[in-house]
Amino acid sequence: MKNILVTASKSYSVFIGNGLLKEAGKYISQIKRNATVAVISDSHVFPIYGNTLLTSLKDAGFSAISFVFPAGEDSKTPGTYLQILNFLAENQLTRSDLIIALGGGVTGDMAGFAAATYLRGISFVQIPTSLLAMVDSSVGGKTAIDLPAGKNLVGAFYQPDLVLCDMDTLDTLPPDVFLDGCAEVIKYAVLYDAYLFETLLNHGTAFPREDVIARCVSLKRDVVAEDEHDNGARQKLNLGHTIGHGIEGCSNFSISHGKAVAIGMNIAAKAGNQIGITTGHTKEQIENILHRFGLPTASPYPAKQLYSFALSDKKRSANQINLIIPETIGSCIIRKTPIHQLESFIQAGL
Ligand code: NAD
Ligand code: ZN
Repeated sequence: MKNILVTASKSYSVFIGNGLLKEAGKYISQIKRNATVAVISDSHVFPIYGNTLLTSLKDAGFSAISFVFPAGEDSKTPGTYLQILNFLAENQLTRSDLIIALGGGVTGDMAGFAAATYLRGISFVQIPTSLLAMVDSSVGGKTAIDLPAGKNLVGAFYQPDLVLCDMDTLDTLPPDVFLDGCAEVIKYAVLYDAYLFETLLNHGTAFPREDVIARCVSLKRDVVAEDEHDNGARQKLNLGHTIGHGIEGCSNFSISHGKAVAIGMNIAAKAGNQIGITTGHTKEQIENILHRFGLPTASPYPAKQLYSFALSDKKRSANQINLIIPETIGSCIIRKTPIHQLESFIQAGL
């Protein structure tokens, strides 16, 4: 088992190991006692893991209630969010009580935003059950819901009090959802860590989970400690995402996030190579590792179409866009780019 301490506006531990779910009550009683705990979860995850968690909480002396919403991004809406708030209010949760998110990134983002805003903020524990949620969304304090105009348009920076990553929950994750998380894991390696890259290349999807997840969490921890509110270094985590969002959008979300990010990373490396930023064999190495994992690398859409989706990216400021471009494996740069040059950049990477 590994314990990583995150120090942002709040300090908290991320535990990574096996069998953590049935011990959750014990871990949580170290940060809170005699509280009511509201477990927020989705309709896929709760039937598998809900009882284990509720039993563990009750055994540790908590009174526990649960709110379950239909699984999927389509639930990450103001409507579900309001239902959660009403559920908390009807059950008279106070600021000395606690919310747990049990599930993937959708659950964590929405329960986190409810925790940030209910009574102006109550304690919050993340129990991520998808690979993406373990390595990315459960750490760092970004919470959000979607609006019809776009994803994650309403949210807050709100750090959890504790994160428990139980590796065992990954056993029931659909392989395709696991693969989406792998794209984010590869992203960390390309951004920061050539050794992690080698490990992933050697093992493919059978990588040593505890070590790799702990490495990704500690890399994210470092980024969040340096730039909690996403004004500088944290933007590097957008590697592959500006173009990836365009691919998701063009496909009407039939191409999943991780696969779109994989294509986005590959385009960034190919274009980076054309303009002399991505050096040596870096572009081939990135393409190789994506193939090793069975992730796609080619965009089914032309540059013009991707460009028009990228124009609506909320990470754009005025007429500039920050592109993240690999130099070598483990080192990437942020390149401020005039928005009108984006189409030719994408074209260079197709
Ligand atoms: P998700 O929560 O929808 O989970 C994907 C699917 O896997 C769902 O059907 C879910 O029910 C199922 N699932 C999850 N864990 C399971 C398990 N152990 N066994 C069986 N099924 C399981 O989506 P996700 O891919 O985990 O996360 C994507 C979301 O995360 C997006 O909304 C995205 O915006 C958000 N996100 C947030 C951040 C952040 O920093 N806050 C970062 C990246 C992504
Ligand atoms: Zn992502």
